[in-house]
Amino acid sequence: MLTYKGIQFRLYPNLKQQEQIAQTIGCCRFVYNHFRASWEHTYTETGKGLTYKACANALPLLKGDVPFLKDVDSTALQKSVWSLADAYRRFYAKLGKYPRFKSKRNPVQSYTTAIQGKAQVFTNTVTNNRIKLPKLGWVKIRGSRVIEGRIIAATITRKASGRYLVSLKVEADVQPLPSTGQSVGVDLGITNFAILSSGEKMDNHRFTKAMRQKLAREQRKLSRRAEGAKRRGTPLHLAKNYEKQKRVVARLHEKVANQRKDFLHKRSTDLIKNHDRIVVEDLHAKGMLRNRKLASAISDVSWSMFVTQLTYKADWYGKQFIKVDRWFPSSQLCSSCGHHDGKKGLHVREWSCSACHTSHDRDINAAKNILQEGLRTAGAAGIA
Ligand SMILES: [Zn+2]
Repeated sequence: MLTYKGIQFRLYPNLKQQEQIAQTIGCCRFVYNHFRASWEHTYTETGKGLTYKACANALPLLKGDVPFLKDVDSTALQKSVWSLADAYRRFYAKLGKYPRFKSKRNPVQSYTTAIQGKAQVFTNTVTNNRIKLPKLGWVKIRGSRVIEGRIIAATITRKASGRYLVSLKVEADVQPLPSTGQSVGVDLGITNFAILSSGEKMDNHRFTKAMRQKLAREQRKLSRRAEGAKRRGTPLHLAKNYEKQKRVVARLHEKVANQRKDFLHKRSTDLIKNHDRIVVEDLHAKGMLRNRKLASAISDVSWSMFVTQLTYKADWYGKQFIKVDRWFPSSQLCSSCGHHDGKKGLHVREWSCSACHTSHDRDINAAKNILQEGLRTAGAAGIA
């Protein structure tokens, strides 16, 4: 099956390349904002907006008026126009907010460029831990993953921490994974990240607590420096120590996010590899828990990211991903005999079925019920 994959590398541009990146980002922003303004202007005048084509056709003219646009990657400018048109399309389709002007102050800055011609062949593009990018030439990267497939586009990002990233959009031909004959139910939890119907508990990332404390400490330091700058009457973006600390905090945030992403990718790939059918409870059911302030924002993000990964990986590798209805009482039913044993408070971690006397671990029992219900509904729909 042909699909798109995103592959990221940390990028180490030299000073000249950093300047070129900053310039390209600036020009993309300029072009975006220019057409954002004329789009709105046209709309006010005629009652109709512009189109991608109209903007793209006007781009050479704009380059004539604004010569510095000629110094940067031209496909990046086109992509910028395209993303504006797409933002309007999403807005008209009620999928997104009204496109806003891009700001220089945004902590994350990026541009996207098309990879064309022979550079599409990976072996000519990424070798010896470097990547060839339009206008930038060879740029150092960390890691040397083999990329199978055609590279279509590259997004170069400067993060709030001052680090650089390149995300490649790769067209990949994914082969189904061998069938294992196994099915699994997954209960997304609070104390554990997830509990499987097999009884296995996926650890909540142990790093989060230590990390959270560290973050809180650095965050306090940041506030102190903001106050200090305020006392001295220095605008924040000119306060050197404040800006430095801001990057420290941003780096920590990025680290947490990366660790989380790695963890989720490993676990979702494992689940898909080892099972033919994966059943998960609909996330809305978990919304109820959030209201009781049991879940932190972190597990919230992780859950939805995890479910997204399972969804597309199942699709890639020819496995079946099943969601169970949010009203299904997974923690009240006995997974052995099906007896509805009444509502149980969240403090009840273990219980025995009053009908068949099987003793249950609350979460494992729930995961087993989720699995059974998933297989039942999938069977009823004629998929299983
Ligand atoms: Zn029972």
